[in-house]
Amino acid sequence: MSGWGPRFFRKALLCACCAARPLAAQPAPAQPEGVKPAPVLKPGEGLAMSLEGGDILTFGEARAVSPMGGLAKLVWLRVEGSGWSTGSAKFRCQGAAGSLTCGTPSGHGTVSLAKALEEDCDLAFLAWIAEVRARWLKDYGPEVAWYRVVEVFEPFLGRRLPANASLPVFSTPWVGDGDLLRTSPEGFLRWLLQPENAEVAAFGRRMLAGYWAEVSALFGKENWWFKTATASVPGAPGATSAWVAGGRGSTLVVLHIPRGKGRPEALARMREILGLRR
Ligand SMILES: [Zn+2]
Repeated sequence: MSGWGPRFFRKALLCACCAARPLAAQPAPAQPEGVKPAPVLKPGEGLAMSLEGGDILTFGEARAVSPMGGLAKLVWLRVEGSGWSTGSAKFRCQGAAGSLTCGTPSGHGTVSLAKALEEDCDLAFLAWIAEVRARWLKDYGPEVAWYRVVEVFEPFLGRRLPANASLPVFSTPWVGDGDLLRTSPEGFLRWLLQPENAEVAAFGRRMLAGYWAEVSALFGKENWWFKTATASVPGAPGATSAWVAGGRGSTLVVLHIPRGKGRPEALARMREILGLRR
């Protein structure tokens, strides 16, 4: 599953990177003609990639579990993305609301769902989640509402919630603060690949690749979508690691880079690994 043999080299290049530039330069072991080398990751990095045939490739710390940070927003798309998308959700982020602050002190301004994903706006998601929570309570009652959330988030919660937990007020840990929600590059990739979660990648393609198309002057024409996120580091207050999940066509990739890194570095690293223009 995680092996990187010659058969995978060819598949990776034909399927995943067919429109991409060559992978980053690295020491080149003897390989079959026409086959490009596997990505070489830096210490602490983990990468998981799916190919069109269903194979999953893993590199580095792909199975290391750590706080998932803002990737949690993709999980919320699975819970309520259709409703937010249909209702053209909008939010005005001023950088702070009560005791809560957003990643950008001056605020993200008025954000749509696509922009809140792109800019990783916690306050927008918390506001939208609070709205749907109130609606679920009214329409379904607390038990059904809680079941709906736990059913989707269970892979990332482990046993960190008591069995008799009731519907909480969804605060910052539910959009990626702290270490309530955790995953690994391979774990999140496998979650994205499950048929019942397919709409998450579809949202990513529609909302985030669309954004990239708008800045094609910077990045050239491509169909990749990327969701970047920062995450906390257990035992190191204030430190962050960073994530990128994304895809192109039916190929999906998830990258985690270690402590000390942020979203721009993670995106640059993902583009470097995939051989995309920066
Ligand atoms: Zn914001």
